[in-house]
Amino acid sequence: MAKRIHLLEKKVAELIAAGEVVERPCSVVKELVENCIDAGATAVTVEIKNGGVRYIRVTDNGCGIAREDVPTAFLRHATSKVQTEDDLDAISTLGFRGEALASVAAVAHVELITRTSEEPMGTRYCIDGGEETLLEDAGCPKGTTILVRDLFYNTPARMKFLKKDVSEANAVASAVDRIALSHPEVSVKFIRDGKQERMTPGDGKLLSTIHAVFGRQFAQGLLPVDYTLGGVKVSGYISKPSASRPNRSMQSFFINGRYVRTRTAAVALEEACKGSVMVGKFPACVLNLTLNLALVDVNVHPAKIEVRFVNERPIFDAVYHACKNALGADAPAQEIDLSK
Ligand code: ADP
Ligand code: MG
Repeated sequence: MAKRIHLLEKKVAELIAAGEVVERPCSVVKELVENCIDAGATAVTVEIKNGGVRYIRVTDNGCGIAREDVPTAFLRHATSKVQTEDDLDAISTLGFRGEALASVAAVAHVELITRTSEEPMGTRYCIDGGEETLLEDAGCPKGTTILVRDLFYNTPARMKFLKKDVSEANAVASAVDRIALSHPEVSVKFIRDGKQERMTPGDGKLLSTIHAVFGRQFAQGLLPVDYTLGGVKVSGYISKPSASRPNRSMQSFFINGRYVRTRTAAVALEEACKGSVMVGKFPACVLNLTLNLALVDVNVHPAKIEVRFVNERPIFDAVYHACKNALGADAPAQEIDLSK
């Protein structure tokens, strides 16, 4: 017999929705740091303990949240970044879905301390498992600190899927690195279990950021890329053929300041390096693609790691020729089959 259909209780629906955005500590950190960047911060500090499961603290010097908006910021679909349907066609901020704070608050103990430059007094706000527990004055500098404790304390099923602390911490470090690399104008500091692991200079230079993140040797093995084709600007660095890698783990692509996985760009990079890079080795890269906001749909995936291009061809061509050019081996455009 068919079971009766009913609407899910709000709390249950919240937990399900939260699961889409917040999978692991690194997804929390990614969302929180993206918020700092969107808030115009020039300095961001990420601190974690026990792989981020027990403790994540993210501090920024951005615009802060006005007292009267603080509880709203934790509601699902509450955002300051998008207003109308048309805005979805040209998203220039990293966030826009208004889901991160609501999701994190549904599955952890969260404390927020924030102040805007217009307010003489800041705000401390606590929310546990989606329920507000405190709202009071707090003396604090301009900007925002979010502390997330005991992630998944109320969702044991999710908790079980977490890996060892060290794996979770490494995943957080990678998430922090990606954001640092995509925003060289922001100084990003990462502290793991009390020890500072990284700090990018925030001087606006990609190469010094790469140096801070991946080390001197990696930075010295790079060739600059700067090329525009068909409205797609490709800039950043690829490895010299002599500095090729045993795998693809050092290939990072960013589109309009957002880290993404893009097969099209990765295939273009490797096609361009064919003949220069030894068989069985792979080029490394940190490449930024800048294109018209309307030509890429970022609203495909809750975590926004995957994007959709209106047309793949210009992306492929621009990356291919940009890399060929950097390797000193550019040739007239040739047709390459994208489907293989
Ligand atoms: P989204 O980023 O998609 O807008 P979030 O749930 O991540 O959704 O954040 C909700 C809102 O809270 C944001 O639109 C922003 O106005 C505010 N906010 C969140 N984090 C910060 C921060 N670090 N500094 C300033 N405002 C913030
Ligand atoms: Mg956000």
